[in-house]
Amino acid sequence: MDDEPWIVHTTAAPVGLKQACAACGHVLQDNTAHAEGRVAVPEGQSAEMTWWPVGERIAQLGICTLVLPDRPLDPDERLCAGAN
Ligand SMILES: [Zn+2]
Repeated sequence: MDDEPWIVHTTAAPVGLKQACAACGHVLQDNTAHAEGRVAVPEGQSAEMTWWPVGERIAQLGICTLVLPDRPLDPDERLCAGAN
């Protein structure tokens, strides 16, 4: 059982090649490697740069990142430091 909470950030609009949290500045997406042609794209997937939807709540735990649906936070989800 993993006791680490999901950290919930809120996406700001991308600036340059990076998209950060509007509250704490944590980088949620970095397309630098993509722009430099250093991203391998699995067959059948898009080679376009991708961004998180602006203004959405993004939950992160370890290497997992997902968009939270519009619902109250679960007990294992915490707003990021900038939102407190
Ligand atoms: Zn944040």
